[in-house]
Amino acid sequence: REKSRETADPAADSSPKLAPAEHRDEAASKKNLCVKAAKEHSIPEDLNKVLENKVMETVLDLSHVKLSVVEMTCSGDADGEGIISKSISSHSDLIPGVYEGGLKIWECTFDLMDYFSEAAIEFTNKSVLDLGCGAGLLGIVALRGEAARVHFQDYNSTVIDEITLPNVVANCTSEGRRMGSGKDRKASKPPSKRPRKAEGSPDVLNRCRFFSGEWSQVSQLLLNSNKPCSKYDIILTSETIYNPDYYSALHETLAQLLDRNGRVYLASKVHYFGVGGGIPLFENFIEEKNVFRTRMVKTIDQGLQRCIMEIAFKNSC
Ligand code: SAM
Repeated sequence: REKSRETADPAADSSPKLAPAEHRDEAASKKNLCVKAAKEHSIPEDLNKVLENKVMETVLDLSHVKLSVVEMTCSGDADGEGIISKSISSHSDLIPGVYEGGLKIWECTFDLMDYFSEAAIEFTNKSVLDLGCGAGLLGIVALRGEAARVHFQDYNSTVIDEITLPNVVANCTSEGRRMGSGKDRKASKPPSKRPRKAEGSPDVLNRCRFFSGEWSQVSQLLLNSNKPCSKYDIILTSETIYNPDYYSALHETLAQLLDRNGRVYLASKVHYFGVGGGIPLFENFIEEKNVFRTRMVKTIDQGLQRCIMEIAFKNSC
């Protein structure tokens, strides 16, 4: 198990990093103007397009697109994000065209997956949001656990198109499974067009929606869209509280999108050195807002200390 984690290089314990100070200042001054707009991503009818030319790896029993290959091959996307060139891949500001960390599977994702098994978290018939999804493994586990619907959100649209969506197809559709996966296996055999129904089970992609953009924009899109959705029973979020500048947007998003009796499972390092965020700061923020109660459900002491926090509305059951 540990070996398979190494395969995915979940974290060499580097935290998401901030841009150099001059970029931060620039970003801060633009913050109110340049918050990345939200967009819903359509799922191509032809799954061939989704898995085309993807090199797949396996971690635990999940396939995922080999991230270093995406990093090397994408220099930008149609809306001009240009997110993945090496030169900017460690920058992290709320300005258009900037990567926000979804091009790596961060180690708290694996902590949260462990916790799901240990605590027997039940996804059956639940409505789930994988917030700040990156590779989307948490949402994929929820889909496999028979969640009624799973929505995926990442800041960057390239991450959704090149990583999250292919990973969902690879793990949760008969096409993806038929193509197989494995370390450095190229998805060469083209899958067929997406069937309306996979054999014996409802088409899993009909239970998914994919969004990119900044949190406040995504929640507005979800709440105001002509396909409005009910609130989420479970929101999963891993390694998303590293930057205190985002706490307000994150907190508001959770408050707007969580069902009255829903639960957020948040996995995080206790401290993000050099960035400033972490569990104590976010806990204080939540306490001051007085909307949610929190409970630490697990702490992990190997390497950098990490935690899983359960968040629920104060007046919930
Ligand atoms: N959850 C994934 C994992 O554990 O591997 C990715 C973690 S990555 C460090 C942080 C994620 O949060 C990215 O997917 C990024 O797009 C998202 N994110 C961070 N700040 C955001 C913001 N202000 N608005 C929208 N998404 C944001």
